[in-house]
Amino acid sequence: MKKIIVPVLCIALASCGGSEQKKETKAVADANPRFEVFKNSFIENLWKVYPGWASSQGYHKYDDILVIPDQNERDAEVRFASANLDTLKTFDLAALSDNNKTDYRMIENQLLSAVWAVKEQKSWEWNPSEYNVCSAFAEILNGTYDSLDVRLHNFSQKLRNVPEFYKAARKNIEDPTLEHTQLAIEQNLGGVSVFEKDLTDAIKKSKLTKDEISKLNERAADAVKAIKNFADWLKKLKNDKPRSFRLGKELYAKKFEFDIQSGYTVDQIYEKALAHKKELHEKMFELADRLWEKYMNKTPKPGDKLVEIRNVIDKISETHGKPDEFQAAIEQQLPVLIQFIKDKDLIFIDPSKPLVVRKEPAYMAGVAGASISAPGPYDKNGNTYYNVGSLAAWDKDKAESYLREYNKYILQILNIHEAIPGHYTQLVYSNQSPSLIKSLFGNNAMIEGWAVYTERMMLENGYGNNEDEMWLMYYKWNLRSTCNTILDYSVHTKNMSKEEAMNLLMNEAFQQKTEAENKWRRVSVTQVQLCCYFTGYTEIYDFREELKKQMGDKFNLKKFHEKFLSYGSAPVKDIKELMLVEMNQTKK
Ligand code: ZN
Ligand code: ZN
Repeated sequence: MKKIIVPVLCIALASCGGSEQKKETKAVADANPRFEVFKNSFIENLWKVYPGWASSQGYHKYDDILVIPDQNERDAEVRFASANLDTLKTFDLAALSDNNKTDYRMIENQLLSAVWAVKEQKSWEWNPSEYNVCSAFAEILNGTYDSLDVRLHNFSQKLRNVPEFYKAARKNIEDPTLEHTQLAIEQNLGGVSVFEKDLTDAIKKSKLTKDEISKLNERAADAVKAIKNFADWLKKLKNDKPRSFRLGKELYAKKFEFDIQSGYTVDQIYEKALAHKKELHEKMFELADRLWEKYMNKTPKPGDKLVEIRNVIDKISETHGKPDEFQAAIEQQLPVLIQFIKDKDLIFIDPSKPLVVRKEPAYMAGVAGASISAPGPYDKNGNTYYNVGSLAAWDKDKAESYLREYNKYILQILNIHEAIPGHYTQLVYSNQSPSLIKSLFGNNAMIEGWAVYTERMMLENGYGNNEDEMWLMYYKWNLRSTCNTILDYSVHTKNMSKEEAMNLLMNEAFQQKTEAENKWRRVSVTQVQLCCYFTGYTEIYDFREELKKQMGDKFNLKKFHEKFLSYGSAPVKDIKELMLVEMNQTKK
C-alpha cells in the first residue's frame, strides 16, 4: 500500500500555496475513496463479530445467531479490534476529508474501547445483568422488517444457543456486585414472558408447519428453563466478597475518556460542575428573592437561601396546563419556536423536513411526556417522530405531579431540548452528511450537549421574554444535568453515600423524592452515562465563547450553529479542531 506523507507537511504550510497545494489535493483524492472502501468492509465485518448489535441497528442478516459469551468470543473481539487498528494506521489522517477524519477517530475510539472493556473493565465478570437474551428475542417478534414466518424461523434458530449462553455466563461471573446481581435476576425473570405469552401469540398468527411449531416450542421451553436456572443460580450464589458497584477512580477516568471523548479530563469537568452549581444557586436566589412577594405574598422568608428558592419553585410549578390539554400544548409550541428562530436568525430550519408529531405509540405509553424517535441507520425512508404522551389514562395524583414537573415553563424548555432547535434540528443537519459510522458510534455528549446548549441559547436570545420565572425554572432544569455529573463522579470515585446523594438531589437540585430515588438506582448500575449532558453542553458553550472573543464583531451566531452541526454527531473536541483549522485557513 502506498503511504502518503506529503499532505502532513502541506497542511502545516497551507499558506504556501503553489505546487504543494496541488499535491495535497491529489493525495486527498486518493486517500478518501480507499477509506470509504475500508469503512464499508469494516462495518460488514463488525456485524459478523457483533450480530446482536447488528440486529438492534436494523441489519438483519445475522438475526438467527446468538453469540456465546465465552473466552473465544472475547478473543475474537480483541483480534478484530487489533486487525482494524492496524489497517487504520495505513491511512494518513491528514489526507482525509473532514467527514472521514472524524469517522477515523470514532472507529479508532470504538476499537480501543472494546479492547479496554474486555481486558481492563471486565464487566463480563462482575455485571451479571449483561447476560440477558430476552430483549433481543422480543425485538424479532416486534419487528416489521420481514414476514412473521421468516422472523419466527430466525427466532427458532437463535434459540438453540440459549442454554450454552447462560452456561458461559455462569462461568464468567466472579464476585459480582450485589446491585447488578439483583438487576440481572429481575430483568431476566421479567423477560421470560417473551418466550411464553408473546411467542404463543405470534405462533397463532403464523403459517408455520406443525413440526416447525413443536420444534420452536421445545426450544423455547429449554430457553425458559435456562433463564430461570440462571436467576436461581444468582439468587443462591455464594458471594462473600462482592465487588463494589462503584467503578473506582482509574477505571472511571478511562471510561469517561472512551465514552465521552471530551477535550476536558473528568476531574476538570467535575470542578466545572461544582462551580456551575454554585453559580446557578446564586442566580436562582436572586430571582427567587425578587419573585417572593409575587408568589408568597406576606409569608415571611425562611432565612435559608436554598429553602427560599425551593418555596418559589414549588409555587411557580402550580402554573401548569390541564391533563387533557397536554398534547395540544406541546403541538402548539412548535410553530412558535420555529418563528422565534427565524425572527432572531439563529439557525436555518429546513421547511421541507417538518417534524411529524404523533401520539405516543402504545408500547411506549407512560414513559415520558415527549421524545424523539429517529429511524435506524438502515431505515433511510423511515420518518422521524416527535412522540407526545397522553395523560388521559393517568390517575389524578400522578398526572398532577407530572404536570407540576412539566409546568408551563419547563414544558417549553423540553420542546427546545427534544425538538427545535435541539435533538430534531441536530438530526436534520447530521443527515445532510450521511455517515453510517456516525449513526452507529454517534457521540452522545455532542448530541445531548447540543440539546442542552440550545436551551440556554434560546433564553439568552430572549425566548420567554426574559421573564424571571422562565429563567428560574430553566436554572432548575440546568441544575439537573449539572448535579447528574457531580453525582456520578462522586458516587463512583469519591464514595458518596446514598444519604449524601439524596441531599444533593433533593435539597440542592430541588428534585422530588421519587426522582431522586430513581436517580440513585440509575447511578448504582451505570457509570459515566450521566455525565454526557453537562460535559457536552460545557464544551460547546466554552467553545462558542472562545470564538466570540477571538472573532469579535465578525462572530455570527447563525453561522456558528450551522457550521458546528455540519460535522455530524462527532465529539465536540474533534469538531472544534476542524472548525479552527478551517477558520485559520480562510483567514490567510
Ligand atoms: Zn396543579
Ligand atoms: Zn436529550
